[in-house]
Amino acid sequence: DSTGSADSADPAAAVRRERILEDVAALRASFDAGTTRSIPARLAQLAALQKGLRAERGRLTKALAQDLGKSRLESAITELGVVSEEISYVSKHLKSWLRPEKFSMGLLLAPATGELQREPLGTTLIIAPWNYPVNLTLAPVVAAIAGGNTVLLKPSEVAPATSSAIAYLVATHLDPEWVRVVEGGVEETTLLLEQRFDLIFYTGNATVGRIVARAAAEHLTPTVLELGGKSPVFVDDGADLAVAARRIVWGKFTNAGQTCIAPDYLMATPRTIERLVPQLRKAVRAMYGTRPERARDYGRMVNRKHFDRVRALIDDDRAIIGGTGTADRRNRYLPPTILTGVDWDDPVMDEEIFGPVLPILAVSGADEAIARIREREKPLTAYVFTSHRTIEERFATQTSSGSLAIGLTLAHIGTPSLPFGGVGESGMGAYHGRAGLETFTHAKPVARKPLTPDTLKLVYPPYKGAKKAL
Ligand code: NAD
Repeated sequence: DSTGSADSADPAAAVRRERILEDVAALRASFDAGTTRSIPARLAQLAALQKGLRAERGRLTKALAQDLGKSRLESAITELGVVSEEISYVSKHLKSWLRPEKFSMGLLLAPATGELQREPLGTTLIIAPWNYPVNLTLAPVVAAIAGGNTVLLKPSEVAPATSSAIAYLVATHLDPEWVRVVEGGVEETTLLLEQRFDLIFYTGNATVGRIVARAAAEHLTPTVLELGGKSPVFVDDGADLAVAARRIVWGKFTNAGQTCIAPDYLMATPRTIERLVPQLRKAVRAMYGTRPERARDYGRMVNRKHFDRVRALIDDDRAIIGGTGTADRRNRYLPPTILTGVDWDDPVMDEEIFGPVLPILAVSGADEAIARIREREKPLTAYVFTSHRTIEERFATQTSSGSLAIGLTLAHIGTPSLPFGGVGESGMGAYHGRAGLETFTHAKPVARKPLTPDTLKLVYPPYKGAKKAL
């Protein structure tokens, strides 16, 4: 095959390939041996991960600062804290979630009992992104372990320091019978995707999402795709603009806008825009000061390629905050930037921005905002700031998105009690808390009927009573 012929030209690639195949085989063997089935063993692995997170806090925090300029506190809140909370929550509830759910088998089959058992899927593949490279890499691992699976984990090569810190954490604190890390990029991922897994959990962009889905089809492997999209924000007339501005600015500029659920673009009526802009300015200043390049809590673009891509979306004539003036390619710094007077066919409205640029578009009201959302692909999240229940209801029922957040941004995905996932172009499947356990298990109905008395006799042919019944 093509990978084989490449190997003969590159002996190092052949060794890497061999190692990956060994990892997959070892994980499959340990799953088959039943290593991951017992609930106490799952809880012990989760506890080991919790301990590893604590022990490697310094290493992870340093790596996140290197890759994304994340401050220690931001990393604690949006990365390590989220995973730690997820572990505690899942560990606390795991036993009760795994208790078989009983259900009735109906009169016709009586006496009989039915129950739903959650069985592990097997050996799973988790392919992670670079933007929250601890959170989005380890939170799915929590769900996989809870479900009783073995895991082949592929962190993103785009955040190399964190990828290596995660590999260290897993090798040092977790059991290689449960979880193994393969570091690398397209070559390694392509090879992994040729192997047979029992679930593929991919987080990243929709282009690679399609590559994953195509590869998975070959083995009929179920896939979870956690993708992105342009998450809209609508600020209604009459909403509390000072609070809305703070929440939008925080949601947009955290991690320098490199957040899958960051508000991508903002819609409001012209009169609300006029009153909102000074509040947005004030919020940016309060959070990042007048020189955000010096702010401790303001991140950096992950690399120069992404810096160039996002910088090109900034039209300085429309920048009412930020702009390219202070942009610094060497340090991958782009200031918090807000653009007004943006048109629907401007380049900034083509694709997910994934950087610190917030375009504001004028609409005539909620009707137009809803229509605009509906004419685009389904986003990962939609945001509404309003003081009217009817407007909330209309967004809930008339727009479709992975989730809808009313009066807040980002924070809703930090709670393990809510499922997190997309719909349509923003993805399929969900995780966090119980949803994660459900994703990483098969809900197997187990039906039981005593052999005596043989009440099934009534349904064996010849069907004497059938004519009457019909
Ligand atoms: P990325 O570039 O790190 O890619 C994700 C993974 O795909 C990596 O592990 C990478 O090695 C692998 N990959 C890249 N090219 C490949 C190829 N040709 N074949 C096989 N594998 C390949 O991350 P990204 O896609 O740049 O991340 C940004 C996107 O992810 C945004 O669209 C964002 O909205 C989305 N995202 C979604 C979520 C979510 O939870 N739904 C979270 C974060 C990011």
